[in-house]
Amino acid sequence: MDKTLSSSINFAYSAPAMTCPGCQAQTPLTWERYFSSPLGHTCPKCEKHFKFPLTARHFSVLALAGLAAGALPTILVDLATQSLGIGLIAGWFVALLVILPLDRWMDDHYSEGKLLD
Ligand SMILES: [Zn+2]
Repeated sequence: MDKTLSSSINFAYSAPAMTCPGCQAQTPLTWERYFSSPLGHTCPKCEKHFKFPLTARHFSVLALAGLAAGALPTILVDLATQSLGIGLIAGWFVALLVILPLDRWMDDHYSEGKLLD
């Protein structure tokens, strides 16, 4: 599938999506866009730059989800290896598996973008 066709299909089947604060165009926040623009996004329609500020609510949800997901692996790996360091690394890894998709999903569905220029 060529890139143009695949992005138009994504566009058609993904409401809601992240909304450009400049022109209100909705664009799905794909993994490619998520990782290629950690400091801000460029609207494909009006080419304005915007980002999603980290709000207290957004941070709290991610922190709680990360703690909930990472606590048990940390304890289990700590017990199994007798190393808190390795346990914390394992816990962080599992927490990131939850935090990254959740962060992307929240930006895509709920976060309000702020124009950067
Ligand atoms: Zn725009």
